[in-house]
Amino acid sequence: TIFQLPGKYGKGVLVTPTVHGNLLVGPTAIDVDDKEATATTAAGLAEVREKSGLAVKDLPMRQTITSFAGLRAHEPRHDFFIGEIAPGFVDCAAIESPGLSSAPAVGAMVADIVKNSLHLEADPAFDPTRKGILDPKTLSFEERAALIKEKPAYGQIICRCESVTEGEIIDAIHRVPGARSLDGVKRRTRAGMGRCQAGFCSPRVMEILARELGVDQSEITKSGGKSKIIVGTNKDAF
Ligand SMILES: Cc1cc2nc3c(=O)[nH]c(=O)nc-3n(C[C@H](O)[C@H](O)[C@H](O)COP(=O)(O)OP(=O)(O)OC[C@H]3O[C@@H](n4cnc5c(N)ncnc54)[C@H](O)[C@@H]3O)c2cc1C
Repeated sequence: TIFQLPGKYGKGVLVTPTVHGNLLVGPTAIDVDDKEATATTAAGLAEVREKSGLAVKDLPMRQTITSFAGLRAHEPRHDFFIGEIAPGFVDCAAIESPGLSSAPAVGAMVADIVKNSLHLEADPAFDPTRKGILDPKTLSFEERAALIKEKPAYGQIICRCESVTEGEIIDAIHRVPGARSLDGVKRRTRAGMGRCQAGFCSPRVMEILARELGVDQSEITKSGGKSKIIVGTNKDAF
């Protein structure tokens, strides 16, 4: 990870490999009032290109797969606000960067607040370990062949770009909390994260979601709420 010197708005533009082998370049940071403003802009991308170029020459920006923007809620003192603001109501607000890195510690702190507030006792039978979704790519050829023999869904590639199998998607849907939308599947398995940005696998993932959840495909959303993907059929007029 190549950092630049931090500025007023944070840690500056960095160039970093991801754990899955992609390259991540950015971010920029500006103050905005609009709480829905998650659009990327040409000016922002130009700034990323210019500033990342100071650290790494000739980055292949033309090979960009996708670009993102996010909102960072902050309060004037730029401090995390964590506390029980009303009896039984714990607030974790203004969690700016490094809120992601701090999340486990914030979780432990909130657990303590809740424990003291509700006078809870630890459950000795609680198992805190959580088994991840099995990724067949991490297995040897022989192990993978045995898995596919036992569970053929692991032999069906649904997301070609990221080589995600039907078995992983089924696992993502049936675990707790299970995926209910295309983005839910994407975040758990990477289906749709690759070069084609879900162009190929979206209909396949929708089919699997509908089948496994016992709902009609028209009920499947991109990310919950009103983000429906099927809004009608184009033969209705006939
Ligand atoms: C570009 C960028 C780079 C960053 N880099 C880093 C980094 O390198 N390291 C690091 O540690 N941190 C980083 N952060 C900061 C980190 O992402 C945040 O600190 C962290 O995500 C805050 O967690 P949160 O749960 O408080 O809020 P969020 O992650 O913002 O979660 C709030 C959730 O509430 C939902 N929501 C909002 N309103 C409603 C509503 N009315 N009803 C229901 N749901 C609602 C939102 O959709 C969202 O899912 C970065 C942030 C940005 C934007």
